[in-house]
Amino acid sequence: MFELLTEKVHDEGRQGEAFAPVIADVHTDKKFYIESYGCQMNFADSEIVASILHDHGFGATRNFEEADLILLNTCSIREKAEQTVRKRLSDLRKVKEHNPGALIGVLGCMAERLKSKFLEEEKLVDIVVGPDAYRTLPALITEAGTGQKAVNVLLSREETYSDISPIRLDSNGVTAFVSIMRGCNNMCAFCVVPFTRGRERSRDAYSIVEECRQLFERGYREVTLLGQNVDSYHWMSPDGNETITFAKLLELVAKVDPLLRVRFSTSHPKDITDEVLFTMARYDNICKYIHLPVQSGSNRILQLMNRTYTREWYMAKIDRIREIMPDCGISSDIIAGFCTETEEDHMDTLRLMEFSRYDYGYMFFYSERPGTLAARRYTDDVPEEVKKRRLDEIVKLQRQLSHESHMGDVGKVYQVLIEGDSKKSTNDWMGRNTQNKVVVFPKPAASKKGDYVDVRIDVCTGGTLIGTAVGTISSKLILTENSN
Ligand code: SAM
Ligand code: SF4
Repeated sequence: MFELLTEKVHDEGRQGEAFAPVIADVHTDKKFYIESYGCQMNFADSEIVASILHDHGFGATRNFEEADLILLNTCSIREKAEQTVRKRLSDLRKVKEHNPGALIGVLGCMAERLKSKFLEEEKLVDIVVGPDAYRTLPALITEAGTGQKAVNVLLSREETYSDISPIRLDSNGVTAFVSIMRGCNNMCAFCVVPFTRGRERSRDAYSIVEECRQLFERGYREVTLLGQNVDSYHWMSPDGNETITFAKLLELVAKVDPLLRVRFSTSHPKDITDEVLFTMARYDNICKYIHLPVQSGSNRILQLMNRTYTREWYMAKIDRIREIMPDCGISSDIIAGFCTETEEDHMDTLRLMEFSRYDYGYMFFYSERPGTLAARRYTDDVPEEVKKRRLDEIVKLQRQLSHESHMGDVGKVYQVLIEGDSKKSTNDWMGRNTQNKVVVFPKPAASKKGDYVDVRIDVCTGGTLIGTAVGTISSKLILTENSN
């Protein structure tokens, strides 16, 4: 299977990343090791799991050979993601040979999809836990410790883990993910998420704001609010007197501090409102970047996909975003070769990409997932070589669009939040501008991670802007309504 990403939504660089906490770990007797696959949501969930385990006497290790408990937090979104986990499990067989007492657990979407079948298929696995059952992990570990296999894949209509303070794993200390809701009610025909993550539910707004405040106090300078469809965030206080929409939540988080940047992902084209766009425009610390997955540019395919919008609706949203925020970065997810897709449908996708002028694209070819609406209703009838060729064309066009977008930044000055050393040189910083573009520049004297720096863009290479710091390092306030 072939699959290509030009940037990071399902951060390929982080797939299978082994986590260790940034804070000193007091627990040394029992150790857990966790690897995460898939979307940002899964990485955020691993931090909740770490917190639950920490409270039950487990310390984290980055070395699975010394772990008493090895966990894989899995993804089911495409077949390739599941194959990666299967392969990883076969690597872990050796660990069991050396340390038969070690327990192996599978968490996340693949656990939810396969349930106890997982135990039959993969004899190595001792524990299977779905995304809504992490609180029961300590009891499941005890059960598995007695030699029994332990499974909990119950989905919940309420669980949001809102009271659990995630332990930040492998963090740069500057940017963090904050989960604001779970599940999805949308039933896009190709997608397994509603089956693996259950019904949509919104987390207590004040627990979100508090988590962001605490992150800021600990030196973090950017939070990304996560949900499968953030625009349908809707929280009502237990007394029923207060309702908080996504626009209101954005505002509450933006007001934590003008120096805290706010991002969010993912927006659904049918749900993103003018209220959200105007809130973004009003606060300088809400980043001007929207990930607005289109999936296809053909009305016929969009209908089969059950996306509930048309290409005309989508184009009107793009126009509206640019009208309200002319400098807003926009990216998209695109699926090539969905059931019955013709050359004309594919051309519609390419034309829509040209219209939207995406800064980034995350592009996949269709992978049928068991149990989804598409798997039940339609035939996966586009031959693999055609899917591959269409994906190639989509990727090629996106490269050109990304290049044009990045070239347009040369000569401009952007405020960049420093996230850490650049990959290539410790003499350079790497950060992002508000549009989420990666900027690399030589370290000015006395600058440090978490500072805001004004950087003039000199050139661009691939997906990276290369620049020079100009003026002073701004711990200066970003002007927002809050600071006026
Ligand atoms: N909730 C988000 C949305 O609606 O855009 C993202 C969901 S999913 C985790 C991320 C992306 O994976 C989707 O936007 C879609 O492009 C892609 N995807 C989902 N199911 C797929 C499938 N069966 N085959 C190929 N790509 C798929
Ligand atoms: Fe899947 Fe659609 Fe929900 Fe996104 S909105 S998670 S693509 S069902």
